[in-house]
Amino acid sequence: MANKSANWFKQAGQAGNSLRRQRLRVGVTGLSGAGKTTFITSLINQLENHQKGLLAQRAPFDRLVSMRWRRDEVKQPFPYLDSLAALSAEPASWPESTADLSRVLLDLRFKPQGLLGKMQGTREISIEILDYPGEWLLDLPLLNLNYGQWCEQMAQWLSQSPRAELAASLRERLQALDPEAAADEAELADLAGQWSAFLQRCRSEAGLSRNQPARFLQPGSDVAAQMLHFVPLLRANQHSQGSTSSWWSVCEARFNYYRDFIVRGFYDEHFRHLDQQVLLVDMLTPMDAGQAALTDLKGAMEAVLESFHYGQNGFLARLLRFRPRIRRLALCATKVDKVGPLQQRAVQQCLEDLMVDRLADVRHGGVEIKGIPLSAIRATRQEGDALVAGLQGKTGWVRYQPGDIPAHLPQSLQVNSPQLLALRPPPGLHRNEPFPHYRMDDLVAWMLKGTRL
Ligand code: GDP
Repeated sequence: MANKSANWFKQAGQAGNSLRRQRLRVGVTGLSGAGKTTFITSLINQLENHQKGLLAQRAPFDRLVSMRWRRDEVKQPFPYLDSLAALSAEPASWPESTADLSRVLLDLRFKPQGLLGKMQGTREISIEILDYPGEWLLDLPLLNLNYGQWCEQMAQWLSQSPRAELAASLRERLQALDPEAAADEAELADLAGQWSAFLQRCRSEAGLSRNQPARFLQPGSDVAAQMLHFVPLLRANQHSQGSTSSWWSVCEARFNYYRDFIVRGFYDEHFRHLDQQVLLVDMLTPMDAGQAALTDLKGAMEAVLESFHYGQNGFLARLLRFRPRIRRLALCATKVDKVGPLQQRAVQQCLEDLMVDRLADVRHGGVEIKGIPLSAIRATRQEGDALVAGLQGKTGWVRYQPGDIPAHLPQSLQVNSPQLLALRPPPGLHRNEPFPHYRMDDLVAWMLKGTRL
């Protein structure tokens, strides 16, 4: 008997070794302005101050002994100190937005739980966070196209409003190019620049989100500028051909490189290793802007969610040539401090209503989805039924009533917009105090669910 129990303890100890050090890879993404940088800054800050804020009171963080943010040995580190400097300056400003991929490595050490846990010693988990622009996921459909098909698709997009007007003379220039004529590198570089400027106008003037190729707007540091010198040739189609150094062959070669190395490379090198994903969405701004902006957000988020929609038919696995391992997705409406606490869940509900079909697909494909309305850094405080906050670029405080959020998003996508103000960060933020927030503790707890601590 004594022997048997000694063996059992030994086995438990061995299992404990593998339990002791776990690793978790979490992706954080969202379209530009969704709140990624602010979120990651607050996430590190909450964990650094785990003994003080809401985290201190909830399991398993009440057993968290220490947390280390690893500054060195990390490739493309997240600029935590720069973000802190902006937020704690006088006057405070919001940190600079995500424009490239960046990483955070956090080591957490927990006190063991129960008798068995005590025998196995402390538990450690390393969390690797990968922050990347959500726009990069909008390039996923390119994996399914050859250059000629892309030209056909762009010709069709450019024939319709509002892209037709936004492209203006660029469309005529592209239409005038003979795919078989000899390419002129200087002109091609100029045209590619014009194409970027056109995509920029699509985004800022018409609020369009599907702007391809995404790296023309957010190149990232891994792409040589010259590899982005290609444009769609509007007279070409999937049957076109061209001799070496023709417009066709130069543009086709760069398109293929973009598709096979840049787009596929991102999925192969980074996306495929993620265990779970946090997807941040600024739902309030498009609710404020109206129906057209909500329709566009719906289109863009559906395209983003394609990357998480594994389904039974293996379409994505075929495109990517591997089966992604993300099994858990947190979908978060961000900046909900801009409305009253009672309306924050309604903002999240409206977001989930907007994407109801695609979320059902993602769930059906085996990914567990959790909705969490978030404010990474709370810029408002509540006084009665009003909110009090400081405006960006101004001193003093305003007291305002943000207005109602409907319990559900109407199918027409027509909503009375809440009053949204450009708020500055709250004063007095310091690295060694937890930043005020809404539900960051829920989010961090969600991340660790399922790990053996
Ligand atoms: P990114 O482009 O996804 O990295 O987004 P950022 O983190 O840079 O956020 C964009 C802007 O949204 C910031 O400059 C802030 O003005 C605002 N913002 C982000 N998070 C919050 C928040 O929790 N509360 C409020 N009130 N504003 C926020």
